[in-house]
Amino acid sequence: MDKNVVVSDRIPMIHKIEKYVKSSKTTVEKANIGDEKNTTSMTSGKSGKTLVEGYINRNNQKNCGCTGKEGNHEGQKLYRMKCLNCGFEYEANGCDVWLRKCLKCQ
Ligand SMILES: [Zn+2]
Repeated sequence: MDKNVVVSDRIPMIHKIEKYVKSSKTTVEKANIGDEKNTTSMTSGKSGKTLVEGYINRNNQKNCGCTGKEGNHEGQKLYRMKCLNCGFEYEANGCDVWLRKCLKCQ
């Protein structure tokens, strides 16, 4: 008897939750697709150069190659960077290599 009450109570709730999850998922997915397109088109022109080992950006930061580690951004790899002003070495997301500034000199 108790079970029956609980189940019939829960069914309408589950339906409601599913509806909300579905609608919010669609919105999130759409937003993500838009973001990815933007970042890809923004970086695709530059990434060819900036992610090559030995690339030096406008702040005199040298790309010393991919570390193979995951970056803070999803799908981004960490790159080893070296400041040619002071020699400080650090890691940066692939998407940040071209505009990265030295943590010590900046
Ligand atoms: Zn520096």
